[in-house]
Amino acid sequence: MSGCIFCRIVGGDAPATKIFEDDLLVAFLDIRPITRGHTLVIPKSHAADLDELDPALGARLFAFGHRLAKAVRRGELGADGANLVINDGRAAFQTVHHVHLHVVPRWKGDTLTFAKGFVLRRPHDPERTAAAIRAGLDRLADEEEETTA
Ligand SMILES: [Zn+2]
Repeated sequence: MSGCIFCRIVGGDAPATKIFEDDLLVAFLDIRPITRGHTLVIPKSHAADLDELDPALGARLFAFGHRLAKAVRRGELGADGANLVINDGRAAFQTVHHVHLHVVPRWKGDTLTFAKGFVLRRPHDPERTAAAIRAGLDRLADEEEETTA
């Protein structure tokens, strides 16, 4: 959909620090992160809200969010947990009307940092952060290979 910032990111017409991309999904760093590594996972095809989203695609979206939540616990980021959130509809504070799943890394005792991040929403060395998350995804893939070998 023209005029949709996330569709422009999908089309490569707007900049984003991408973490992952396949035929159906793109994951990239939130430009106004609450915590370091705050990532958005979106379907490539435009769906304004969950009403418009194909359920199978929704399942794919969550499956990748699940992988990201595991990836941020691994490697340099060393998160202790993550919040996975979809704000569906204006009433739920959805601000970009193209479905997106937030994956917000969390650390033990980070309540104060989290509260500050919620207000400031300042980027944290995006290239290095993206590299750390990609390394976490690679480590996860290695672990899965080991368990299936
Ligand atoms: Zn869109």
